Amino acid sequence: MPVVNRIADFAEEMKGWRQALHQIPELALDLPKTAAFVAERLREIGVDELHEGIATSGMVAIINGQGNAAGEGPTIGLRADMDALPIPEETGVDYASEHAGNMHACGHDGHTTMLLGAAKYLAETRNFRGRVALIFQPAEEAIGGARIMVEEGIMERFGIGEVYALHNAPGLPVGHFLTTPGPLMAAVDTFHVHIQGQGGHGAMPHETRDPVMAACGIAQAMQTIVSRNHHSLEDLVISVTQIHTGTVDNVIPDTAYINGTVRTFNPKVQAMVMRRMQEIVAGQAASYGVTAELDYEVGYPATVNDAEKTRFAVDVAGEISGSEKVEGEAGREMGAEDFAYMLNARPGSYLFLGQGQGAGLHHPKYDFNDEIAPIGASFFARLVERAQPLP
Ligand SMILES: [Zn+2]
Ligand SMILES: [Zn+2]
Repeated sequence: MPVVNRIADFAEEMKGWRQALHQIPELALDLPKTAAFVAERLREIGVDELHEGIATSGMVAIINGQGNAAGEGPTIGLRADMDALPIPEETGVDYASEHAGNMHACGHDGHTTMLLGAAKYLAETRNFRGRVALIFQPAEEAIGGARIMVEEGIMERFGIGEVYALHNAPGLPVGHFLTTPGPLMAAVDTFHVHIQGQGGHGAMPHETRDPVMAACGIAQAMQTIVSRNHHSLEDLVISVTQIHTGTVDNVIPDTAYINGTVRTFNPKVQAMVMRRMQEIVAGQAASYGVTAELDYEVGYPATVNDAEKTRFAVDVAGEISGSEKVEGEAGREMGAEDFAYMLNARPGSYLFLGQGQGAGLHHPKYDFNDEIAPIGASFFARLVERAQPLP
């Protein structure tokens, strides 16, 4: 069975929702227009309960299965992220962002639409027992809206037993699914190093304590954590992504700033990186005669799929797209995703859904491919019908 027929019937309506959302991209936790649009659609669709204002702009909608008394489980959770990115749009589409400087460059407009499509179908048909919790979250790209929703108790409050989410994947052919049981995406941490030296004339470096040299030394030495301190068969990425210092060609500046990202899967590796970064920053600073301070921010944990739920999700994906289009053992990658917090709270699975060629995620020319919305919505709908079949 390919895409659910009833969902294919309203593909045009979904496209309208998606393009309307695309025009109003909002950032992080505060998504007033987006959340209002989603809530309005959910009311039209006729969900049984709508709980707004979770993690600021997040919401959970409940649809009861056939003959189900209110509050009776089991409850399956389906999640979509709703936030956009601070990137000026360059797609040239006629439904481009009306919020200058912001755009839906990660396709969360599409994720929201796919979950709304599933909601419409499930509210109409109710061919499942128990209930479904539709989780619309803010702040995937920053802060971790998923973490806040979990901390605000959505899993317990709605009795959610398992959770699933999809992310579109440019470069993967349309309708292909990709995932893996176990660890799928890495933990992401951010580091900042503030270096204080003493500036002076560029022609008289001996009278200065040069923070530029110290910044170079620290950036270089950090790479030795990967190459010298770390077991080569474990996953680790350390990327220095910013070095800012100085403004004039003949002045040695007072300060320098370095920052970057760390990706790991194993908490022991993460702890080793934190320790070695402290040692390197302190040691390099001493050797260059400057002071330096490391600020290490622990971010999203690793995204770990439940093996059994993933096998189930892979089977459902195969039903929609054909098993030859589903890669269920793709292996892990070093990207990160805040759905990790929901997967730490409840077993479940996260899958990628191919949307074909085109600009990559977070690119100013990226756009969600509306062709895949009925596929994603069908996947969500069939997950519910098969996880909680009618007796
Ligand atoms: Zn993104
Ligand atoms: Zn994303």
